[in-house]
Amino acid sequence: MELLLFFLTLIGAVCCQETFYGDQVLRIKVSNEDQLNKLRFLETLEHLKLDFWLRPSNPQIPVDIHVSFTSLQAVKVYLESRGIEYSIMIKDIQAMLDEERVEIELNRKLERNSKSFNLSMYHTLDEIYTQMDILASEYSGLVSKQQIGTSYEGRPMYVLKFSTGGINRPAIWLDSGIHAREWVTQATGLWIAHKLAADYGMDSAITSLLNNLDIYLLIVTNPDGYVFTHTDNRLWRKTRSKSAGSTCIGVDPNRNWNAGFGGPGASNNPCSDSYHGPQAESEVEVKSVVNFIKRHGNIKAFISIHSYSQLLMFPYGYKCTNVVDYSELNAVAESAASALTSLYGTAYTVGPICTVIYQASGGSIDWSYDYGIKYSFAFELRDTGAYGFLLPANQIIPTAEETWLGLKKICKHVQDNPY
Ligand SMILES: [Zn+2]
Repeated sequence: MELLLFFLTLIGAVCCQETFYGDQVLRIKVSNEDQLNKLRFLETLEHLKLDFWLRPSNPQIPVDIHVSFTSLQAVKVYLESRGIEYSIMIKDIQAMLDEERVEIELNRKLERNSKSFNLSMYHTLDEIYTQMDILASEYSGLVSKQQIGTSYEGRPMYVLKFSTGGINRPAIWLDSGIHAREWVTQATGLWIAHKLAADYGMDSAITSLLNNLDIYLLIVTNPDGYVFTHTDNRLWRKTRSKSAGSTCIGVDPNRNWNAGFGGPGASNNPCSDSYHGPQAESEVEVKSVVNFIKRHGNIKAFISIHSYSQLLMFPYGYKCTNVVDYSELNAVAESAASALTSLYGTAYTVGPICTVIYQASGGSIDWSYDYGIKYSFAFELRDTGAYGFLLPANQIIPTAEETWLGLKKICKHVQDNPY
């Protein structure tokens, strides 16, 4: 009976999800600029409906393309006939999604039975919001919850504030989940919230940090997108806003900031996954963060957490010139990455966005840097492609632990270098 109920729940949970039977993720190790251009051309062939998990960047970083079953033959022929070698990174996306779903339902059941929150599983928005309330009430002297805005579809956007007092202390901003499908980032954000709350007064670095600075943590930056990844399409990236004159939904919220808006590396096509939107800050999720940062007025670091590729980047993305603080930011990023790597050997690449990946306009950390927040960084968490966005839940805690070591280095530097 119990087993039957379990499978009924499972069917209920997947009844309305978009399916990806036979879809594959192809990995291309690009060897030269000519091949990159051929892949950029492939990206423009809209009828193939390709979903680039990693877009053509430079020969150091592979290109990963999610290809639907119906386009597989055409794409493979395109690559083979141009001498571009590829491997099959994921053989059947749906099979992986099914596994992920079974694991979530099993863990949810265990979690309910044990009545203790399990940080090593993926949670829904409601579950995350409930946890935020629990943290704020359990650690009421340190943690509070603030609503900084309301999403396009009307969901609250909650920030957790970690503060030991003072008035408008210098603060560190952390956000995760601006891209909905990057599930390990929301899970890492939640882990960090628990870490800060539980270790204040125990861990000397956290204690000293929070005795001097506040931390603001926005775990689910794109709540509509995140809910949609649970209910409809696990691979959704954008917001859920409607575009005038198009049937396609959503804007890439990390191309929507007022920093080189509409420039290279963003699309003006509402159907594209990197659509920049009708104008800068058109997305209420972006605008809410901008308003919060401006209203606060004393934010000293702005850190955005993405996945995947294992990169730690700093501005600029919208242009390829070095920032004036290049040497300092590069040194901080190098030391953060080496701290991160020291735990499990996870290798990271460090540098400005434009050098490490490609020119990309309208990104959050370019905006924050130009706004005057010197310590602006973006992480791309695990992995380097075995699972991509479908990172198994048993990697959540190791990912969060190592990321925290990197973040701690950055926070310490911010604390030691007031400006
Ligand atoms: Zn992202």
